[in-house]
Formats: sequence, C-alpha cells, structure tokens
Amino acid sequence: MADPKGFLTTPRETPRRRPVDIRLKDWREVYEEFSHQKLQQQAGRCMDCGIPFCHQGCPLGNLIPEWNDLVWREDWRGAIERLHATNNFPEFTGTLCPAPCEAACVLGINSDAVSIKQVEIEIIDRAWEEGWVRPETPAAATGRTVAVVGSGPAGLAAAQQLTRAGHRVIVYERADRIGGLLRYGIPEFKMEKFRLDRRLEQMRAEGTEFRTGVNVGVDLTVEQLRSEHDAVVLAGGSTVSRDLPITGRELGGIHQAMEYLPPANRVQQGDLSHSPISAEGKNVVIIGGGDTGADCLGTAHRQGAASVTQLEIMPTPPNERPDNQPWPTYPMLYRVSSAHEEGGNRMFSVNTQEFLGDENGNLRALRLVEVRRENGGFVPVEGTERELPCELVLLAMGFVGPERAGMIDELGVELDARGNVARDRSFMTSVDGVFSAGDMGRGQSLIVWAISEGRSVAAGVDQYLMGRDALPAPIGPNDRPLT
Ligand SMILES: Cc1cc2nc3c(=O)[nH]c(=O)nc-3n(C[C@H](O)[C@H](O)[C@H](O)COP(=O)(O)OP(=O)(O)OC[C@H]3O[C@@H](n4cnc5c(N)ncnc54)[C@H](O)[C@@H]3O)c2cc1C
Ligand code: SF4
Repeated sequence: MADPKGFLTTPRETPRRRPVDIRLKDWREVYEEFSHQKLQQQAGRCMDCGIPFCHQGCPLGNLIPEWNDLVWREDWRGAIERLHATNNFPEFTGTLCPAPCEAACVLGINSDAVSIKQVEIEIIDRAWEEGWVRPETPAAATGRTVAVVGSGPAGLAAAQQLTRAGHRVIVYERADRIGGLLRYGIPEFKMEKFRLDRRLEQMRAEGTEFRTGVNVGVDLTVEQLRSEHDAVVLAGGSTVSRDLPITGRELGGIHQAMEYLPPANRVQQGDLSHSPISAEGKNVVIIGGGDTGADCLGTAHRQGAASVTQLEIMPTPPNERPDNQPWPTYPMLYRVSSAHEEGGNRMFSVNTQEFLGDENGNLRALRLVEVRRENGGFVPVEGTERELPCELVLLAMGFVGPERAGMIDELGVELDARGNVARDRSFMTSVDGVFSAGDMGRGQSLIVWAISEGRSVAAGVDQYLMGRDALPAPIGPNDRPLT
C-alpha cells in the first residue's frame, strides 16, 4: 500500500487549468504543470483496496493500485512497466479519458476519488522524458500478414499488439494522416498531436507499416485486401453522423461537427491558413451537449466567435450522484469541461423546431422550444417557442454507425441490431478471418474502449493465425460500461 494514512491526510488535488484569456489565444493543452511531489502525495491517497473497484471501472483493467504504490515509492520506471502492461497508449487515455476508474474508486464512496488519471499521465510523460519508451521489436517473425483498416485508437492498439507478436502488420487509412479521431476529431487543446506522432514513430520502429490515402473498398478492393493478408481487422470507426432533418436544414451555415472540426485541426497541422468553416465573428449554436459539442465550443471560442450557445434536449443533470446511479457506476452529472469554463451559454431541455434563413439562403436563426419528459419522450412546452439568432449551427448529436457502402457491403459482414459490425467472442465477424474492433463494432464509444477492443481483437487474430493463447484480451465484444 502507498501511504497508509494518505487518504485521511491528503485532499484530492488535480492540476489547475491555464487562465482562460491566455489559453484562448493558443491551441495548447489547457492544464498547468503538476509537481512530482504533489503527484506522489496524490498517488499516496490510494488505499490498495482488497477489491479494487477502479479495475472494474477501467475497460483496460489497468493495475491502478500497483502503479499508485510504485509512484509513491518513486519507482517511476516500475510504474510505467505496470501501466504499459495493460495500456498501449496511456498518453491518450491520460489526456482524454473521462476516467470511469475514478467514478468506481472506493474512496469516492464517502470522499474524493484518487486522481488516477493524473497519476497515469504523469507516469507516461515522465517515461517519455526519461527515454524509457523504446520500440519493442518482436522476438521472431511468424510469416503471417495482417491488414488493419482504420488508424484510430482501436486500429493502432491492434496493430501494435500484432506487430509485437511477430506478424507483419499493415495499417490502411483513407485519410492523409494516421490517427483517426485522435488526429482530425479531437482538438489540440485536449491532446496535442506530438503525443500521437511520437507514438507512431515508436510503432514504425517496431515494424508496423502505415499506408495513408487508401480507402479500402475503393482504392483497394476487398478481394485484394483478403488475398494479400492472412487476417483482416476492420477498425473504421462509427462515422455516420446523426442528422437533424427539419425545415431549413439545407440552408448555408449548418454543418456536422465532423465537417467543422477536421479543417480546424488542419489549420493547427499547418495544412490550411484558415478553416473554410470558421466561427470568427459569428453567433454559433451547437446542437448536442456532449463531448463532441464541447470540442466545437472550445474551437469556436478560439476562432473568435461572437457568441456560442450549446443546446441539449435532456434536462440539466444533477451535481451529485442521483439514487439511480449509485457508486460504482459512471454517473451522468453536470460537468464543466475546460471548454465550458471558457464561456458560452448552455441550454438544457430545449429542442430545435426549424432553421430560418435569409434571402440568400443562409442561416439567420433557429426556432427552439422548451421540452419536458413524458412517457419516455419529449413534448414541447406550449408558448415557449422563440428564435435564437445564429449564422453557424454545428450538429453534434452523435453517430449512428459505420458506413455500409464500400468495404462493409462488399465484404458482406453481418451487422447487429444497431447497425454495427457483429462479432463473436474472439471479435471475428461473420466472415472467416475478418475481425472488427472499436466504434465500428461497439458503436460510438470512448478511446479507452477502443484501445481495449484493439488489444482484445489482436488476441483473437493471434489465436486464429497461430492457435496459441499468447496475447491478453481485456474484454469481450459484449462487455458494457458500469452504467
Ligand atoms: C469530436 C470527438 C471528440 C471525442 N472526444 C473524446 C474524448 O475526449 N475522450 C474519449 O474517450 N473519446 C472521445 N471521442 C470518442 C473517440 O474518439 C472514439 O470512440 C474513438 O476514436 C474510436 O476509435 P476507433 O479506432 O474505433 O475509430 P476512429 O478513431 O473513428 O478511427 C477510424 C478510422 O478508420 C478510417 N476508415 C474508415 N473506413 C475506412 C476505409 N474503408 N478505408 C480506410 N480507412 C478507413 C477513418 O478514416 C478513421 O481514421 C470523441 C469523438 C469525437 C467525434
Ligand atoms: S479503488 Fe481507489 S483507493 Fe481503491 S485501489 Fe483503486 S484507486 Fe486505490
């Protein structure tokens, strides 16, 4: 156990965010430095529980009490070894994960949970600084070749595991850069791209091959894909955005979040001087109160929006755990992300009825109405209709599943009832030798689940190719969060 009295004597602490007026002038990550000494004390709060519920909350089964103890004892090298034992990319989860482990932490029953996510990011940052993150080349080549389609966290985790197991792995990505949503969805202020790039360098040095600009099903036929590889992993994500087909949807100035965020990221990558869809000087409305909406919010503020309003159809969530979401579940609470702290107006229990245009066919406002829950649905509250002036609307209402045309249709893999790619217990689809992981099979989810599925699908592929049980499989395809 770390500090036997730490949980009694040390209050929870996390790093401060940089001042809003400063961070809005740049796109860098928003958190200030956190001293090693403070971090050690935070790790020392861990009680090394007999039944560590943090494990259960974490889809990767991260060995949290072990690395808390190692950090407390200043054995940082030991800590990164234990962290890498279950997580290929702790820097992705350490910056981006909503930390279901913290929601499940036993200390959280009557106190503040251990700052697990902060300990995680500090361990991996220190490991990179010290040069401890080195390529891990395989001991022997198996002579087998695996294609991974899609280079988001699921594809990358699968590729790294399979490369290290000795297979020749080729990652096909239709975008011009590797990374999936880590690259073009998630803004710099949440995770700076150097974190992704240095990990890709490690993977290249280990032997993983990357081919960008290859849309499988178009540039490379599925017949070629199958004939050139002994197994295939589909990790193409959940890319079809939910739309809002109401009157006025065709007006200029209404965009999906994933039409808006990628060019903003491209400006930061140096590809564009200005985004073709900019919020500069505009009244912006974001429809959808989730993480994607918050990313649009932070981006719009950095682009110099005149005003930003985020609409959510659900009621305002509570500040404390409600009775129906007890510990150790991940509760739906009123959360103030860094983007929310930067400004803007949040409206809950409202629905959009219509988009209103000007004489040139451009958006000038939307009409909204307050709603209340009734019989599991939403009904408008009479007399609450009003117009909200706006010149840019961003739709951030989630994703309905993977694209079927092209790769999925041509492979003929079966889909589940929700339209995602169906898998068996080893993550194999209905087509022999074709596997699937991440949002493409799970539906829209989280990075931690994508990495976890990537590790599990690698175990399934390795077992299929070699008949051995060599790689860890943290989860099954039907495992769900503690909700
Ligand atoms: C804006 C936004 C912000 C988010 N923020 C967070 C967050 O803060 N924390 C968190 O945990 N989760 C977040 N998520 C969710 C998280 O990003 C996803 O759950 C995760 O990236 C899924 O990983 P994946 O590897 O399955 O797919 P993706 O990351 O979607 O990658 C799929 C890749 O496959 C490629 N592809 C698809 N079809 C083909 C084809 N036929 N040929 C070649 N390539 C193909 C795509 O171009 C893409 O690059 C966010 C999602 C969005 C949209
Ligand atoms: S549940 Fe919390 S206190 Fe217990 S071992 Fe995990 S991190 Fe430590």
